[in-house]
Amino acid sequence: MKVIGIDLGTSNSCVAVYKINQIEIIDNDQGERVTPSWVSFTDDERLIGNVAKLEVSSNFERTLFQIKRLIGRTYDDPMVQADMKLWGFTLINEENKPKISIEHKGRRKILAPEEISAMILESLKTSVEDRLDETITDAVITVPAYFNNTQRNATIDAARIAGLNVLRVINEPTAAAIAYGLEKETNEEQNVLVFDLGGGTFDVTIVKIKNKEFDVKATGGDTHLGGDDFDNCMVNHFVSEFNRKNDCDMSPNKRGINRLRIACENAKKNLSVKKNATVQVDGLHSGIDFKSSITRAKFEDLNRDYFENTLKTVKDTLSSADMNKSEIDKVVLVGGSTRIPKVRELLQNLFGENKINKTVNPDEAVAYGAAALASNISKDELSELRELKISDVVPLSLGYKQSGGGMVTVVKRNTKIPTKQWNKNSTAKDNQIEARFTLEDANRFKQDDAEWKKRSEQVHKLEDLVYAVKHAVTGEMSFDVSDKDKKEIIKICKKVKTWINDNQNPKVHDSKKKMADLEKICRPIFEKIRDGSEILRIFQK
Ligand code: ADP
Ligand code: MG
Repeated sequence: MKVIGIDLGTSNSCVAVYKINQIEIIDNDQGERVTPSWVSFTDDERLIGNVAKLEVSSNFERTLFQIKRLIGRTYDDPMVQADMKLWGFTLINEENKPKISIEHKGRRKILAPEEISAMILESLKTSVEDRLDETITDAVITVPAYFNNTQRNATIDAARIAGLNVLRVINEPTAAAIAYGLEKETNEEQNVLVFDLGGGTFDVTIVKIKNKEFDVKATGGDTHLGGDDFDNCMVNHFVSEFNRKNDCDMSPNKRGINRLRIACENAKKNLSVKKNATVQVDGLHSGIDFKSSITRAKFEDLNRDYFENTLKTVKDTLSSADMNKSEIDKVVLVGGSTRIPKVRELLQNLFGENKINKTVNPDEAVAYGAAALASNISKDELSELRELKISDVVPLSLGYKQSGGGMVTVVKRNTKIPTKQWNKNSTAKDNQIEARFTLEDANRFKQDDAEWKKRSEQVHKLEDLVYAVKHAVTGEMSFDVSDKDKKEIIKICKKVKTWINDNQNPKVHDSKKKMADLEKICRPIFEKIRDGSEILRIFQK
């Protein structure tokens, strides 16, 4: 029995299957290897994929997209509230679950996000069945590493509705690492960093690969960062331009905004290969045509914070894997947004150009890895993938809330699973003989992660400072300082660097103290020289 591997993406989905000693990506009924995760209801039909996407301007109230952003979330979730403002379709609140309400064939239909996702899954399943002339019942499905249990279960429900039994849910970046590992076929141990920037989510995962063993060291990311955000930035930019030029406010015009967004996504893609792109929408608002252009530099400027934040996540993930960037052998790029030159440039600057893998297909790697695991699970006697071994980690800390309100972490984030952890605690009342608690959803404990994040931000600041100071006296354009001063600066930089390496995720206060130590040595030296104030300014940042 064949088991398929499915990448159910926010923007695009892809399906693969292991067939005669190789993994094959299965194209859809329109001959495309990747299917946009869009569903559109016309008067008499239900469309899926690219044909659905093309409906957005003419049929925007009944054209559904980004449904994965709703999966497993509550209606009052701030992300859902923010997202729904951008959509043309109507969301309703049913017992705090977001449901989609549409008119179809003269009747009102209320659909759960799982049901919409099921339609996409079903169409992928049908494509494979047609191609292999075989009934498919089982699948391995991928989810972002950061998905919590509710989101994972909702994905499994979607598959069930589509008539698929989910044998395993695997994290998208882990699947991509499998794709890379199988392609490389090397026996040497390698540390691979998977950088997956798609339409809606961003995942970073560090995996140690040896033969067919995949050992996830750490994972990090953002459940709400991707190409859609870059599109929205550009939309906002052009809406302001349009409003200014025409002295109006087109923001409440959802249809217009949706049409503009499609034009912006195209422009964004063009900017990955060209320095300049045109955005044109006829009759955008009140019958007024819109035509403008945008340079790659402007696009990069609009998204600067987003791009730089991805690097912060990379550094955080490295530090939670207790690794230095030099220990990473390869960076595997996954997701359509990794085609953006600035994103690549930032990664190249951090890791070095030769570390960036260019052979893995960023759109297909996740489905490919899922299919490899599917073949492994299905115990296909002929499959040489039988010996795949995968170990993963918990993406967010798990713990319980104390009666006082604080959180007790039982399983720290990035702990290898399965795991057994013990925790001793006292009861809240005297003579209490019963205590009830459940390990709550990891997402609740973002607070704990927020503290962790603050700490790593501070230590990265310190690391950057050490780099900047050292560079100022040793780099190509170094300042003119005496040999004695130079030695002293190198010495303190080395000391601080060693401290950074020895202290995993140090307290904010301690990192600040090291910063002060560094400044104490550097200040008198740089104050003596011309233009020295320039380098001292970085201490104030
Ligand atoms: P997801 O995993 O969220 O389904 P994908 O990996 O399919 O997403 O990536 C989709 C995102 O990649 C979209 O935002 C799309 O606009 C963007 N994208 C695709 N190709 C390019 C490109 N050439 N340049 C920039 N962005 C691109
Ligand atoms: Mg993806």
